[in-house]
Amino acid sequence: MNDLLGRPLRNLRLSVTDRCNLRCEYCMPEDDYVWLPREDVLHFEETSALVDVFLALGVDKIRLTGGEPLLRRDLPSLVRMVAAKPGLTDLALTTNGVLLADQIDALKAAGLGRITVSLDTLHRERFVRLTRFDQLDAVHAGIAATQRVFGGMKIDTVVIRGVNDDELAALVEYGRAANAEVRFIEYMDVGGASRWSPSRVVSRREILDALSARYGDIAPIDEPGSAAPAERFALRDGTTFGIIASTTEPFCRTCDRSRLTADGMWYLCLYATRGIDLRAPLRRGAGAAELTQIITDGWRGRDDRGAEDRLALGDRRAFVPVQDLLRKDPHLEMHTRGG
Ligand code: SAM
Repeated sequence: MNDLLGRPLRNLRLSVTDRCNLRCEYCMPEDDYVWLPREDVLHFEETSALVDVFLALGVDKIRLTGGEPLLRRDLPSLVRMVAAKPGLTDLALTTNGVLLADQIDALKAAGLGRITVSLDTLHRERFVRLTRFDQLDAVHAGIAATQRVFGGMKIDTVVIRGVNDDELAALVEYGRAANAEVRFIEYMDVGGASRWSPSRVVSRREILDALSARYGDIAPIDEPGSAAPAERFALRDGTTFGIIASTTEPFCRTCDRSRLTADGMWYLCLYATRGIDLRAPLRRGAGAAELTQIITDGWRGRDDRGAEDRLALGDRRAFVPVQDLLRKDPHLEMHTRGG
């Protein structure tokens, strides 16, 4: 099933909670937040029923995210329900890693396929400044546990000027030792990033320049037809890394991702200000046929190119004003829609 720009519905990001145990400066910098009402959060059976409809319509990749997905009680039960479904080729989890060491065996046993850990700095004081919690050791333990149980992983790093842009090579080395491919993400002006400014974005170009100054030639890895957000590169010694250039070189044209929030709102773009409510029909008893129709209509009408629209603006500042909008609608937050 294709949208108006010919993009297939393939990739679903399932946010299982809007709560987080870190307060990253680029994602949740405020002192207080409006949370989703608990009674609105979908039960696993409800999420599973929606996943069935998405899979029947062509989704074959699912990523569990949040908030911090490992804060959701008994997440391995949801993993078990989803992993068993026919048609799914990839079941991944994105986590900040703090609670990973404790849950890693249960996640593996439940059928989780792969893990991405978000890690922005290797310096303890920086980590505390950036996240407001002294949890770097726990993240290291989560990464070590993932290496032991899953063999490898990806590490996602948001690069911010003056914060961690001097750590690119150190992170590549850290990733190499942990059998993790590091992906550098340009700082995005998404909802929630209320401290964003263009001057703090370190572009794909700058990231490549910094790494080639250190490592010499960097070869792009050709992956024709890939809808993956990361462009991949190899250093001379074969070490690979990725760059997700959503801010300066958006990839809307190949974007096959949509996002379901923990309370069942479906968003067709990270920058969309409106979602499609799937919880209400589900809870009033809509069956698979009706849900299929709602999702089909939504996707077939999709022409979102949010990141490209933002780039075209030229004069760019934080996407959503905190007082006016974020306080009124938690759905606009990155930590609600799952990044
Ligand atoms: N808590 C989990 C984690 O830390 O990975 C999952 C949710 S988090 C919202 C998902 C991803 O979004 C993380 O890798 C995070 O770094 C990224 N993210 C959040 N705000 C961002 C921003 N303003 N620009 C770029 N990436 C951002």
